[in-house]
Amino acid sequence: MIIGSHVSYGPQGLLDSVKEAISYNANTFMFYTGAPQNTLRKDIDLSLVGAAHELMQNNNIDINNVICHAPYIINLANNTTETKYQFSINFLKEEINRCTKLGIKYLVLHPGSSVGLDPHIALDNIINALNIVLKNDSKVTILLETMAGKGTELGKNLEEIKYLIDHIINKDKIGICLDTCHLNDAGYDMANFDHYLDEFSKLLSLDYIKCLHLNDSKNPINSHKDRHANIGFGTIGFTNLLNIINNPRLKDIPKILETPYIGNTLEDKERLYPPYKYEIAMLRKGEFNPNLMEDIRNEYQTS
Ligand SMILES: [Zn+2]
Repeated sequence: MIIGSHVSYGPQGLLDSVKEAISYNANTFMFYTGAPQNTLRKDIDLSLVGAAHELMQNNNIDINNVICHAPYIINLANNTTETKYQFSINFLKEEINRCTKLGIKYLVLHPGSSVGLDPHIALDNIINALNIVLKNDSKVTILLETMAGKGTELGKNLEEIKYLIDHIINKDKIGICLDTCHLNDAGYDMANFDHYLDEFSKLLSLDYIKCLHLNDSKNPINSHKDRHANIGFGTIGFTNLLNIINNPRLKDIPKILETPYIGNTLEDKERLYPPYKYEIAMLRKGEFNPNLMEDIRNEYQTS
């Protein structure tokens, strides 16, 4: 099983990300090249990249399974303000350059939000931008993420995803990242994941799926909310999520947890602990631990 989580990109960049992933016993990971909510980015130190690659090799992490995530504020769907649209296109180009320097193959991108535009026009704006950005000689593939349909988000159903993929010229450089919380919130039943994959394969080859974000959801199916829950503590549930990661049709793709950090106590949000080591262990074992939260708090408090 190729499984890991979101990790931070520390002062030593990718090297810190690898160290964090190893501490969770993960064999892959996902990172942002800076804060997800802003576009401030540091130059990449190539000597540290070499050290990061070596550490991956020595710890059974295949760099081809490592995922970079573009910041949320890139919005390719809305061109009402031309300068903002151009900024998003240019930032995405730079993000691809950063991935190339880091040796990372996959860049996950939220397709965008229409914010006031006709959704059809907004979808065409995304296509236009991606066709500018996706070059033949690029080593980086952009993975469009399936969205919950919160607000005016696009990419919330298979029809929109198919429309986007169909109009991308350079199809070798485009793929899909599924997110179980988003799919649930968008109205797809995660208890019947094979049905979703059947519907997907009627419209698009399953080969487009290159990554899976594994998250439980705080909200019921079709709620269009997008609030991630810890594995087994949401409305999708442990068994359904376990079945999804063990689905033979997605065997070789990386599974990435983006579940919330755990508070010191239920009320106290000041000290937050990463749940990933524990959730990965629980998923590998294949057995739900109803005391997971308490176990995490106890272990961090005594360590
Ligand atoms: Zn995402």
